[in-house]
Amino acid sequence: MRDTLRNSSADTGQAYTLDAAAVAGGLETMAETGLSGVEAARRLQIHGPNRLKAHKPQSLTALLVHQFKSIIVWLLVAAAVLSLALGDRADAIAICVVLLINGIIGFVTELRAARSMEALLRITDVSARVRRDGQVREISAVEIVPGDIVLLEAGDVVSADLRLFSVSGLLCDESLLSGESAPVAKDIHPLKPDTSPAERSNMAFSGTAVTQGLGEGIAVATGMASELGRIGALAQEADGQASPLEQRLDRLGHRLLWLTLVLAAVTSLAGVLWGHPLADMLKTGVALAVAAIPEGLPVVATLCLARGMWRMATHHALVTRLSAVETLGSTTIILTDKTGTLTENRMSVVRYLLADTDITVTQTGTGNGPGFLRGGLDLNPAETALLIQALETGALCNTADLGSTENPGTIGDPMEISLLQAAKAAGVAHPELGLRLPQAARHAFDPGCKMMATVHEHEGRYLYAVKGAPEAVLAVATRVMTEAGEKPLTSDHRAIWRARQAEAASSGLRLLALASKVESSASAAPYADLTLIAFVCFLDPLRAGIPQAVHEAQRAGVRVVMITGDHPQTGARIARDAGIGAGELKVMTGREVEAMGSGSAQGGTGDQALLTRTDVFARVAPETKYALVSAFQNAGHVVAMTGDGVNDAPALKKADIGIAMGQRGTQVAREAASIVLQDDNFATILMAMRQGRIIFENIRKFVVYLMSCNVSEVLIVGLAVGIGLPVPLLPLQILFLNLVTDVFPAFALGLGRGSADVMQRPPRDPKEPIIDRPRWILIGILGSAITLAVLAAFTLALFWLELPAGPSVTVTFLTLALAQLWNVFNMCSPCGRLSGNDVLTNTYVWGALALCLGLIAAALWHPGLSQILGLEWPGLNGLLLSGTLSFVPLVMGQVFLMLMPDPARLPPSASL
Ligand code: ADP
Ligand code: MG
Repeated sequence: MRDTLRNSSADTGQAYTLDAAAVAGGLETMAETGLSGVEAARRLQIHGPNRLKAHKPQSLTALLVHQFKSIIVWLLVAAAVLSLALGDRADAIAICVVLLINGIIGFVTELRAARSMEALLRITDVSARVRRDGQVREISAVEIVPGDIVLLEAGDVVSADLRLFSVSGLLCDESLLSGESAPVAKDIHPLKPDTSPAERSNMAFSGTAVTQGLGEGIAVATGMASELGRIGALAQEADGQASPLEQRLDRLGHRLLWLTLVLAAVTSLAGVLWGHPLADMLKTGVALAVAAIPEGLPVVATLCLARGMWRMATHHALVTRLSAVETLGSTTIILTDKTGTLTENRMSVVRYLLADTDITVTQTGTGNGPGFLRGGLDLNPAETALLIQALETGALCNTADLGSTENPGTIGDPMEISLLQAAKAAGVAHPELGLRLPQAARHAFDPGCKMMATVHEHEGRYLYAVKGAPEAVLAVATRVMTEAGEKPLTSDHRAIWRARQAEAASSGLRLLALASKVESSASAAPYADLTLIAFVCFLDPLRAGIPQAVHEAQRAGVRVVMITGDHPQTGARIARDAGIGAGELKVMTGREVEAMGSGSAQGGTGDQALLTRTDVFARVAPETKYALVSAFQNAGHVVAMTGDGVNDAPALKKADIGIAMGQRGTQVAREAASIVLQDDNFATILMAMRQGRIIFENIRKFVVYLMSCNVSEVLIVGLAVGIGLPVPLLPLQILFLNLVTDVFPAFALGLGRGSADVMQRPPRDPKEPIIDRPRWILIGILGSAITLAVLAAFTLALFWLELPAGPSVTVTFLTLALAQLWNVFNMCSPCGRLSGNDVLTNTYVWGALALCLGLIAAALWHPGLSQILGLEWPGLNGLLLSGTLSFVPLVMGQVFLMLMPDPARLPPSASL
């Protein structure tokens, strides 16, 4: 088995020097039929899945090791060692147990998060079309094996190294491998052995993108054996880069750490000066340091993000870059496609505009399928030669398939499908047409010139069938077909056709022109000297729920702008129906945008303002989208943009959030995007935005919660020791609070469903820190309130109830533990008020509280646990004191929050 492997890789490394047939022979495959399913399965066993190692799931050991990379762990270890050195074995063991529990919780959470991320990535797995058993099959790219015949077309990402044996205008973007951004033309001829990889024009390499044309090749290397696997290009990319959010949380943690160490040192010193034993103060210092750091934070953050992404995924939005979650909350503008995103992309032909007449197509014709009417009267299409010609051209210049009785189901572009359906209804059956006029060549749809063409052989001559945007076809047509034969297309004619187009477009119809010509060669320029046959009008209804989604966006302070390749009038009508734009709709064409770009040296700012006030950009070429994204970004917008084509990739990358279409989109677009909409629906963007905002809000909530708890712990110990009281809390008690009872409420906050008005607030300033000034103030106030209550409980226990030090410490512990639990109700956003508080309706919070109360009770009553934690029975009075005073911070917090202006509505202010 090993030998087979070695042999095949030796052969295939030289594939570019060999004749394609020799390569096929060497790999025991055939171009026409491909491998058999059985053989492919056998080879999959030998060569393994076609996957790069970079995508290998995170290993358990790596995850485990990761748990010990945190500074917190080392602080705890230091504490344990110190305890041991001071002869306190119980403490040392207890700390080790805590360490273990913390590690396990962290490990399990991260494992679950990592696994769910991997599951998400698997959903986005690339598929590939291969020929097996003589038939074209769509398989997952992971299953490609050496010897497979792989089919390529524009928009595909090549999924294995292929030796090409058939190409038609195939261009590949190999920037991933060569850094060269211009697409490379491919051919099929053998090359000299010393040709460098970048010049191997008969190869298509794994990971590169097909930008144009068609091709077929033999897979010669898969997985890590491919060129991409060898140079490890993807390994770097996938090298777990932390998202900005994680980085910010990390920075927050580090700042806290230093602050704490200083605080701990000062407190310990003060304690020693007050005459507490040095050993106790050292331990208190360590505990203080641990107290100030929100240990649960990384774990809770990971869990919260993973959960949020799952929730998005179940609503058809796959987030492929974690940073998108954060950016979603600050998006100020959505640049959206029209077809398929705002509309259903379920086209039906409704009208043919012929030279002398209009023919209406009804969906309820006689029989099953469309029917044809002229002037309101039924029409037999066979009697109208011009209509037949239009139907035939539409059926020829077509890549869709209606399916057959054996192979039911339509495949392809909905617009093309509807053309086929119309032709079928008129009896212009597709298979016969293909036999009579076999296809000799095809020019794929070019979004730049907005046309496509097919070439058909007929009695030694070649018929060119062209369809495309009406303006584009009108510009290159020189004749027009009428009932009385071809006539020259005069400028008067053109004006009439344009008027007919504008009339149809203004009612929201999508238009396409059909044209043809006959040439003596199959390689003539397709888009010149054409005869216009007809305009076809399509109806593409608005998706349900779009006006509501657009309205929701506007309420959330997010502008919606349409960018379409379609006609301005069609775009404007659909935009109006969708509710885009405030009042009067401003429409601009791609050409006007380009003209501005070149003239921007003189009057830049005025142009800029005009541009950023526009609601609909029509007849936009994909290249112009990039300029539009930058223009909006320069105007201070955080831009989300949708796209589906290969040429959309640069703009998708440039946008703050690139959103690709899962159904309609090309693989190239999907890889460039940070979110993939599985249902292509605009409304899903808003759902994702809502989730993004909720996630950020939740993160803020639990950060504020954890920090206010930690601040209180530091203050309690610091102040008590500072003013000469006995040590009010033991180190292990603090650890117990931080690692056990704080974590569950924080988890619960992280899982919250968000306040009702998340989508009624303006987008968050992207520069705004997680903890802004109002939130720092809130943390300070809540921390102080808890401190006050707990210190009051401590002094009352000592001097009023006259309890000994041990039970007094227990009173402190209980007051603090309970106060921290109730503090969770101060965490509502945006305002924190108890009334209408979404925390109250969060069932996880109630679960967490019940659990924590149980844990606290166990700590108090369980003999072993209470001994380790140093808890002594405080008596009923002590319990009552703790219980009563623990509610003081909640009341104080609520009073303060009522007086405080809503932090979400405050102007953003710089802060830590
Ligand atoms: P949209 O923004 O509506 O999706 P596109 O950029 O996809 O617009 O298409 C722009 C124009 O190109 C369409 O209005 C249509 O006239 C033309 N067009 C689109 N697809 C095809 C095709 N497959 N063949 C010929 N012309 C097409
Ligand atoms: Mg489109």
